[in-house]
Amino acid sequence: MAERTMARQAADLRRLADELDEPAAAVDWTVLAPEAEAGLRDEIAAWITRKLQPMYGEYLDEQLRDCWPQHPSVCTELGQLYREWSRIFDRDKPLLPAALAFSDRLLPLALGRIGKLMTRCSRQCRISERGHDVPAP
Ligand SMILES: [Zn+2]
Repeated sequence: MAERTMARQAADLRRLADELDEPAAAVDWTVLAPEAEAGLRDEIAAWITRKLQPMYGEYLDEQLRDCWPQHPSVCTELGQLYREWSRIFDRDKPLLPAALAFSDRLLPLALGRIGKLMTRCSRQCRISERGHDVPAP
């Protein structure tokens, strides 16, 4: 009886651990309806302003430009970072090992790719009247 109880408790703990470490859902921009795509871009923009910029602003300033919504590849990178960040931090106790991996590996690698994608933005994009960069004619 006690053995069965311990086995059940162990199973419950494994299930709980799996739930806590469940992978985030990746973003597939190709299947999003236009409204969902715009909504996700707004979510990501808010996340950048409220979370990413205050926590990692010095890294972002070198790589990420305001015209990011105009660049599908950058949106892909930011969408995956946003989902993973949400999985790590949107809980009572943020996941420290995952947060360390995010800071040490995921963010620097993504920002390196984003920086390469946006190196030509100063020539190709300009600030529109709405405050967003748009490709130059
Ligand atoms: Zn640009």
